[in-house]
Amino acid sequence: YKAELKTLKTAESVSTDGHKVLLVANIGSPNDIEAIKQNGAEGVGLFRTEFLYMESDELPTEDSQYEAYKTVLENVNGPVVVRTMDIGGDKKLKALPVPEEMNPFLGVRAIRLCFQREEVFRTQLRALLRASVYGDLKIMFPMIATVEEFKKAKGILLDEKAKLVAEGVKVSDSIEVGIMIEIPAAAVLADQFAKVVDFFSIGTNDLIQYTFAADRMSSTINYLYQPFNPSILRLVKNTIDASHREGKWTGMCGEMAGEALAAPLLLGLGLDEFSMSATSILAQRKRIRELSYEESKKVAEKATTELSTMEEVVELVKAETGIEG
Ligand code: PEP
Ligand code: MG
Repeated sequence: YKAELKTLKTAESVSTDGHKVLLVANIGSPNDIEAIKQNGAEGVGLFRTEFLYMESDELPTEDSQYEAYKTVLENVNGPVVVRTMDIGGDKKLKALPVPEEMNPFLGVRAIRLCFQREEVFRTQLRALLRASVYGDLKIMFPMIATVEEFKKAKGILLDEKAKLVAEGVKVSDSIEVGIMIEIPAAAVLADQFAKVVDFFSIGTNDLIQYTFAADRMSSTINYLYQPFNPSILRLVKNTIDASHREGKWTGMCGEMAGEALAAPLLLGLGLDEFSMSATSILAQRKRIRELSYEESKKVAEKATTELSTMEEVVELVKAETGIEG
């Protein structure tokens, strides 16, 4: 089985009936590039940049960030989706203190913190813009809840771009700018977001937590962590359909994208890009290459319209595809 997986390193991620998707990797630092290449990643679907901020007690400088982004862009063949920093929630930082709150996951986190400390956000955006000429950079904002938040973040990005251009610095003109869909409000309003963003990436880790109002770290209520509940599948479907109606694309960078049973469901819902930890890629590629897109569509349709529980969905997928969980 392992030898067979190895042969898929350079294979396309394509269903038996010719429907192509992209299988890309989640990374946290330039040090991860070698591993994602070894595992046949077709690009990077999520660069979690907060790890650059957690390496030391001081904030990373514009130049040190620029070097990290440049290294990743130069060494990855394919698109590289860089997520602006997601500090807050469980990720605390000496140099970037957030107020003590009752519910940190519902408080000042990610883009919310970036708006409070705009100079820190601007530094990151400048580093990204300067590095953009070295590869296929896409910029993604985390924890977006409203259309205004996206417009504000994009406005700051364009402002920094204009400043750099005025300074004579070369900046790519083809950077796509998208958002994570990880707050239910954004998933529900995906049709409106799709008019203003270039792409979506669904963060199921948080989307599930916020949809079920159940802490993703809690072991006592982990029965509520339900990626295959039809409610989640409907939010995923709504997001993908909305993006396609506007000629945009949708990826997924939460853990769900690499799960065995998710392969037929996500393929059938029309997901364009699956981003996961490097070690899941080859196995997921093998599954996708053994699935029919047309059959997967039927499974996904049934799961999102006729079923009411996660158990029913899991049973359906196992029965229709032979995939074991
Ligand atoms: C997610 O929420 O699914 C996600 C990919 O982001 P993180 O796990 O970094 O919160
Ligand atoms: Mg998240």
